[in-house]
Amino acid sequence: MTEHNLTAVKIADIPVKPFKSIDHVLEVIFDDNNDIIPGVAIAINPEKILQSLESEQVKSILLDATIPFADGIGVVKAVEKKSGSKLSRIAGADLWLAVIKKAALHSNSVFLLGSKPEVLSQCAEKLRAETNVVIAGLCDGYFNDQDKLINDIHHSGANIVIVALGSPKQELFIQRCKEKHPKAFYMGVGGSFDVYVGNVTRAPQFWINLNLEWFYRLISEPKRIFRQLRLFKFIYLYLFNKI
Ligand code: UDP
Repeated sequence: MTEHNLTAVKIADIPVKPFKSIDHVLEVIFDDNNDIIPGVAIAINPEKILQSLESEQVKSILLDATIPFADGIGVVKAVEKKSGSKLSRIAGADLWLAVIKKAALHSNSVFLLGSKPEVLSQCAEKLRAETNVVIAGLCDGYFNDQDKLINDIHHSGANIVIVALGSPKQELFIQRCKEKHPKAFYMGVGGSFDVYVGNVTRAPQFWINLNLEWFYRLISEPKRIFRQLRLFKFIYLYLFNKI
C-alpha cells in the first residue's frame, strides 16, 4: 500500500487516515516534485466527531477533507480499536509548521489568517526569520467583510492558506474560500499561532508522552471545562462501540 491510497478508518462515519508520522502526512500533502497538492487537511479530534453528530454542515465539511488526520488521543484510540493497528497522533500544532518549512524550500506562498492582530504579526515575523517562507498575505481573525477577505486571498495567489479561527469557524471559512480559490492547500490550526509565538504554552513533552495533553490544557485554561466535559460523551460512545 502506498501513502497515496492509505485506507481511511471511519469513526462515526467520519474517515480518518491512519498516518504513522508527520513525515508520512507530508508525503501525501506534497507530490513527487515537492509541489503542494490542493486540498484540505483537517485535524480530527473527539470534539469534531461530536459536532459532526449534531450538525450536518460540520459533517459534510469533515467528509470533504482530503487529509483527515487523527489529532486527539480519543480519535487515535478509536481508530486503533477499529483497525487493529497502531497509528500516531499527529498534532496539528506541529503539522502546519512542518508544511510551511517544506513549502519554503520550493516556490510556494502562504496566506496566514486568524488570531489577534499582535499574535499574527509576531507569528509572521517569526516564520519569515525561521523558514524564509514567502508570505503572500495576512489577516487577523477579527475581520468584518468575509467576501472581501476571500477576494484578497484569491488575488494574493497563495497556494497555502493557514486558518487559525478555532473550530468550526475555520472549517466553515475554508469551505467558502475554496469555492473561490480552489487551487490551494488549506489547513485549520485553531490556537496554533498563539502556541508558536509563545502566547499559549503547550504541555511539556512528559505530559504529551502520557497522552495527557488534553488534561494539561484543561488545567491551564479552566474556562474550557464545558468543552472538555463533552468529551465524556465521546468516551461513552467509544467504550460502548457506538462510533
Ligand atoms: N480566533 C479568531 N477569531 C475569532 C475567534 C477566535 O481569530 O473570531 C482565534 C483566537 O484568537 C485563537 C484561535 O482562534 O487564536 C482559537 O483558538 P482555540 O484554542 O480556541 O481553537 P481550537 O484549536 O480549540 O479550536
